[in-house]
Amino acid sequence: MDEKNIYLSANEMPEYWYNIIPDLPRPLDPPLNPATLEPLKPSDLEPIFPRSLIEQEMSPERYIEIPDDIRRVYSIWRPTPLRRARRLEEFLKTPARIYYKDESVSPPGSHKPNTAVAQAYYNKIEGVRRLTTETGAGQWGSALAFATNLFNLECTVYMVRVSYEQKPYRRSLMHIWGAEVYPSPTDKTEAGRKIRQEMPDTPGSLGIAISEAVEDAAKNEDTKYSLGSVLNHVLLHQTIIGLEAKKQLELAGEKTPDYVIACVGGGSNFGGIAFPFIPLKLKGEEIEIIAVEPAACPTLTKGVYRYDYGDTAKLTPLIKMYTLGHSFVPPGIHAGGLRYHGDSPLLCLLVDEGVITPRAYRQIPVFEAALTFARVEGTIPAPETAHAIKAVIDEAIRCRENNEEKVILFNFSGHGHFDLAAYDKYLSGELEDFEYPEELIREALQELPEV
Ligand SMILES: *Cc1c(COP(=O)(O)O)cnc(C)c1O
Repeated sequence: MDEKNIYLSANEMPEYWYNIIPDLPRPLDPPLNPATLEPLKPSDLEPIFPRSLIEQEMSPERYIEIPDDIRRVYSIWRPTPLRRARRLEEFLKTPARIYYKDESVSPPGSHKPNTAVAQAYYNKIEGVRRLTTETGAGQWGSALAFATNLFNLECTVYMVRVSYEQKPYRRSLMHIWGAEVYPSPTDKTEAGRKIRQEMPDTPGSLGIAISEAVEDAAKNEDTKYSLGSVLNHVLLHQTIIGLEAKKQLELAGEKTPDYVIACVGGGSNFGGIAFPFIPLKLKGEEIEIIAVEPAACPTLTKGVYRYDYGDTAKLTPLIKMYTLGHSFVPPGIHAGGLRYHGDSPLLCLLVDEGVITPRAYRQIPVFEAALTFARVEGTIPAPETAHAIKAVIDEAIRCRENNEEKVILFNFSGHGHFDLAAYDKYLSGELEDFEYPEELIREALQELPEV
């Protein structure tokens, strides 16, 4: 077969999401209530999440049906194409075959609407009127605005202040889809007011914006909170990526891939493409599953595996995860979607078990890889996605050196059309590189809770 693009028809879209919880090599450690430090009860989450999502968060079912109303919205852009990166293979002179799942074709331009649409749907059917959320670079905020608009929900987005100023066009997307957007920290919440008093010049962070969005939801009866990554139900919704990719690789005449690669911010696009392949690996098939993060925010490679809060103000439950500490504020790298101090507990457990291999790259080599991809394949990747591409290129070169005909699958999590300022900086030689921020990490780790 030498097709470039492998498509599925609308009726080949998966009817179920894949829940990895029953297939984990050991049970997850329970999330803890931040006030009592006791295991969290499902009812503790009801002020901020609808019941159906709380159920999915803890579900023991391996497959969970995708409601028709969600599949109908998915069909705006799904199934997404699986593409063969032939020109990249030729450019690298590698015998490896490189495939990528193109999640950039969604209207907001990333994988994030896969869960935004599902979350909007479940909130809508449970009678919620408004959703709150946080956003960094704006990908998640725009995905949720896109989804709430389609289900007639209101949407309030707390956007990290530095991104609010630097990324005006993602803000425009949110406005077009009807959301209200505030630069965080705001003076609308107690958490925001407190931080503004302590640090008047703060550029903001995801941890701070989460505190604000959670507080807003908890204080308003008809309002719930929505998170774009990290949680089990978010990764569940994203597994449609890997389930489609599996079918498409078969259509391309390939067996199990030798490598599955994706970038990691909170772990959702990674879990989405990788989790459906993990049962095969646990049964003994040789698949190298690589999670790629920025060296400036090296959660999996330099963090500790401990209980920590999900946000700066310590309002969220404690979860067992690799963490750099909830007070860690990473340097302002351009892969804004990868600047989170923790990661999905599912992903972290699998890293701890040695099933997933983490890897970190610095910003400059990542942008070099992005430029290579843009010039050779034509498509401009998001800076987040470029982390995965850097690892793909490294592995493809290794295949050339060892003359190995491996199959590499990676997730093209989003396009870079709203990240052109970062590309301009790189092209003019003004892009900064960052060392591992050892000092910042050491300080933040000292503030970990004793549990
Ligand atoms: C948000 C985002 C990421 C990182 O988030 P995950 O939850 O780790 O997937 C990666 N790529 C793109 C394009 C994003 O928008």
